[in-house]
Amino acid sequence: MQERSVYEMYEKLGIEKDVYEYASDILKGLKERFEEIDEIARYNQLKVLAAMQKNRVSEADLKGSSGYGYDDLGRDRLEKVYADTFGCEDALVRPQITCGTHAITLALFSNLRPDDELLYITGKPYDTLESVIGIRKASGSFAEYGITYAQADLTDDGHIDEDAVRKKINERTKIAAIQRSKGYDTRRSIPVKDIEKAVRLIKSINKDILIFVDNCYGEFVERYEPVEAGADMMAGSLIKNPGGGLAAVGGYIAGRKECVENAANRLTSPGLGKEVGASLSLLPSFYQGFFLAPHVTASALKGAVFAAHLYDRLGFEVSPGISDERTDIIQAVTLRSKEALISFCKGIQSSSAVDSFVSPDPSPMPGYEHEVVMAAGDFISGSSIELSADAPLKSPYTVFFQGGLTSSHAEAGIIKTLQQLVNDKIIDRSALK
Ligand SMILES: *Cc1c(COP(=O)(O)O)cnc(C)c1O
Repeated sequence: MQERSVYEMYEKLGIEKDVYEYASDILKGLKERFEEIDEIARYNQLKVLAAMQKNRVSEADLKGSSGYGYDDLGRDRLEKVYADTFGCEDALVRPQITCGTHAITLALFSNLRPDDELLYITGKPYDTLESVIGIRKASGSFAEYGITYAQADLTDDGHIDEDAVRKKINERTKIAAIQRSKGYDTRRSIPVKDIEKAVRLIKSINKDILIFVDNCYGEFVERYEPVEAGADMMAGSLIKNPGGGLAAVGGYIAGRKECVENAANRLTSPGLGKEVGASLSLLPSFYQGFFLAPHVTASALKGAVFAAHLYDRLGFEVSPGISDERTDIIQAVTLRSKEALISFCKGIQSSSAVDSFVSPDPSPMPGYEHEVVMAAGDFISGSSIELSADAPLKSPYTVFFQGGLTSSHAEAGIIKTLQQLVNDKIIDRSALK
């Protein structure tokens, strides 16, 4: 049989030769960068493996439970595995935590009391949290319970503003919150070493202030996690990095024992705490997904780095920039027009394994202020560790690209976006010379 080239397969996916060659040239230059990403994945793989072995995970732990979920040893052990991997005293890892917003809400609400103040030190929080906090009016918000909110914005160059933090802390400040990933914003994401510095500052002002980190999209991108850097608790979604693409639902909260206990009492009921909550038949996917997560995260990260280099060379603004350090899997590309944004999302959608034939259209989303375009043909609905792109429909039309369960798929998705932009005459073919 004659040797077949990768390009022959790309041709079947509708990729033209000049697009492929332009992209391949960029990929060639990324070998060293990808090796660094693999090195972190190796480290984190062993971190997970060590936690599983230390806790003597056994076949019986995969069975699951029904009803109340009493004596669900597999569920309890998974929580120990999360806690040990993330350097925490305890963790709550549950399918009853419906999404990232819910995990964050639980962590915050359960550790705040009326008359306390929540201080975000990384500027405006993720869109969905505006209703939670009461920045946007919503029934059941923190504001309705007499929990006030303060915010210290980042400096112009995207760092935590220590002076602003000092000024905003008062005797009612109970939690200082850090959002590690940029969310739908073009700001810089906050690396773990910056979190470490902020923890030191805040604890020197008042050691009783709890430090919370919204860790969505950050897990396994670096060698250590926010609680290892001194934060008291963190939270995230299982349909992002730590679920490894296999967990079909769920969220986690990990950190100091009292913080996790408070969260458990709020998720279930005071007094019941972690004792109830059936894991149904989900534990095999939770364990296996967590086991695979370091490498799945690395695949997504390679896709993000590739996208940054490709679109940077084409003259678009990208965040993080091509030589910036990374602490999450999100890549923002500012496409400057609504047409380009929709074209990019079409490229991602059409390279999905599931629903490759559907067209992503802008639509209103609960919890978001603007219409949102979402491109994803997911095995698990809305899973953004899978190849996906989202963008709120607002100027300057920045798309947020993330995910890819394998690096080959992430790569194919990015190449397809370029093809789509060329097809739609947004990028001129002469730019590929
Ligand atoms: C995704 C995300 C959230 C919210 O998670 P959902 O699962 O979409 O509710 C919160 N913060 C950040 C930084 C995120 O990326």
